[in-house]
Amino acid sequence: MAPQSVRLPITLQRIFLKKDREAPVLRGHPWIFSGAIDRIEGDDETAGIVDVFDARKTWIARGLSSPKSQIRIRLLTWKEETIDQGFFARRLSRALTLREKYLSSTTNAYRLVNGEGDFLPGLIIDRYGDFLVCQFFTSGIDSVKGIIMNSLAGLISANGIYERSEGRVREEEELEPSVGVLAGEAPPELIPIEENGFKFVVDVRRGQKTGFFLDQRDNRVLLSTLAREQTILNCFSYSGAFSVYALAGGAKQVTSLDSSRPALELAEQHLQLNGFASGGELLKADAFTYLKECDTSFDVIVLDPPSLAHKRNDVTAATSGYKFLNLHALKRLNAGGLLLTFSCSQHVSLDLFQKVVFGAAVDAGRKVSVLKRLGQPIDHPMSLHHPEGEYLKGLLLKVLD
Ligand code: SAH
Repeated sequence: MAPQSVRLPITLQRIFLKKDREAPVLRGHPWIFSGAIDRIEGDDETAGIVDVFDARKTWIARGLSSPKSQIRIRLLTWKEETIDQGFFARRLSRALTLREKYLSSTTNAYRLVNGEGDFLPGLIIDRYGDFLVCQFFTSGIDSVKGIIMNSLAGLISANGIYERSEGRVREEEELEPSVGVLAGEAPPELIPIEENGFKFVVDVRRGQKTGFFLDQRDNRVLLSTLAREQTILNCFSYSGAFSVYALAGGAKQVTSLDSSRPALELAEQHLQLNGFASGGELLKADAFTYLKECDTSFDVIVLDPPSLAHKRNDVTAATSGYKFLNLHALKRLNAGGLLLTFSCSQHVSLDLFQKVVFGAAVDAGRKVSVLKRLGQPIDHPMSLHHPEGEYLKGLLLKVLD
């Protein structure tokens, strides 16, 4: 892909914080909420690069502004460096090196950029073989899209770059969805990928998120080590990736359950592609109803629901959803059985999640031990300065009797 010419961004605004509101910024938190801002000099209607000063007018950081967001600034650097193509090239190159260095050579699908975790707030880039899928979630990062695209073109030889910038965060910023080919070739209907040597196909246009749940890779490996001779329910299976690993690990029977027919059709393809055409049952059902009403029991259940709390205000409702699911899943497990239970809600901490699951165990009348706490793989890094970035949390539980 030939680099295009782009206009270099200029610093549009100078943001002055209220007195004594600079401490989190100085500690490295990348977000500045509108309530911390005293005044703005410059064009405060346009998203772009901004300089941030404390109340004494000392420069402290540089970042991207989102005029319509409560999170008014997302910071890029605490050094006085120019935000240009070279800057983004350095950040992207660092992100790429991390993945290339530590991911298995039998994996060609991974998250190349994980927003704040790679110090590129608002930006997600997933790699699926020869294609990249980008999500520009905020108006700040959207304003530098051209420069980022140029930096990417200089760094990676992808056949094409597709954009899936859509969803709630953009709506909150009053940004229209932006979906389609950004550069190079249009991706095929289904992009073939390999994850730890297993074969999958990804529909980057219609699939959920960018098409595949890359964040569960390590937890799938864990399941394969626990699966031998077990009967397994993969609840909220999406395209059945956990099921493939379970069957590869020697599972006796695997049921993939999801409410989405297209997801189950992909799951069927994935079982076939990996040589397990006859190994798995596919079930289109509502997981809440199924878990409550079914009379089958299992040795292992995977419970990986979609985010139940999109906003802080949803947390109470979400905890009752998690409690319901975990309560009924625990009831469905044979003595000695295992539950791999997850929450991908950013607003539900591991601590809170564990308390909810504890409540579920008490109500289910089961004695349960935690074998392991589970989380995100290394291509989904979290900045230590931005704990909100830890969205995926999970527990491997064993039911004693
Ligand atoms: N475990 C999957 C990812 C799960 S994403 C993987 O590793 O790829 C969450 C899935 O839950 C989606 O596929 C969605 O279709 C499904 N889903 C959402 N609500 C559901 C419900 N009430 N019952 C069953 N499935 C549901």
